[in-house]
Amino acid sequence: MSEKVFKIFVDFDGTISKEDVGEAIFRHFGDKGKVDSIISLLLNDEITARECWLMLCRSVDSIDEETLNQFVDKIEVDHTFKNLENYCAKNKIEMYVLSDGFDFYINRIFGREKLTHLQVYSNKLLIKDRNLIPEFPYLDNSCSSSANCKRNHIINHSSDDDFTVFIGDGNSDKYTSQFCDFIFAKNDLLRYCERERITYFPFSNFDDVVLKIDQLRSKKRLKKRHQAELKRREVYLTE
Ligand SMILES: [Mg+2]
Repeated sequence: MSEKVFKIFVDFDGTISKEDVGEAIFRHFGDKGKVDSIISLLLNDEITARECWLMLCRSVDSIDEETLNQFVDKIEVDHTFKNLENYCAKNKIEMYVLSDGFDFYINRIFGREKLTHLQVYSNKLLIKDRNLIPEFPYLDNSCSSSANCKRNHIINHSSDDDFTVFIGDGNSDKYTSQFCDFIFAKNDLLRYCERERITYFPFSNFDDVVLKIDQLRSKKRLKKRHQAELKRREVYLTE
């Protein structure tokens, strides 16, 4: 019998990092009133994630790299993330970090945490003339809630036979997670799954995730989530 292949996709902000770094940067360096109203426009689906990032970047008057790095250096990661990383390495499970945040702080934080070998897909952030300039190399207009279309990375890195796992917490995960067989959710994503009656596992840290994945891998019969298969098929048909 062939072995079950698992593919793991993990959100960064608020999932690996303890807080949403993107949001924290703009709340700290941007105009507080403006930032709040821009984020509520996104959460009410009145603007796309790309528009949200462009507006947030414009809300920051003037910034330099060193100041931003100092801010990022204070952000903590969930220390149990390393346990998932070890588990995947030991069991040769592919893991991808999918973020609708920015390479600027993810690279900095992963450098500090000795995690630069991880495969990461995110948006890009440049500082030019003291302005923040976002770039969106993985934009796909059919994914409005995430400027980095996380869905496409999942589809590109898994086959229909793989068991896909998504781990996340927020707005940019709501659409994407539905393409996976197993969803680990907390906070906004958890409430969304509840509301939409999407099957999920609640989690508070990555030790919960490792335990559950280990149980799933050892099951004799493991079913793929039918709704996720249908979602994937929709994408193939429209392309
Ligand atoms: Mg998040």
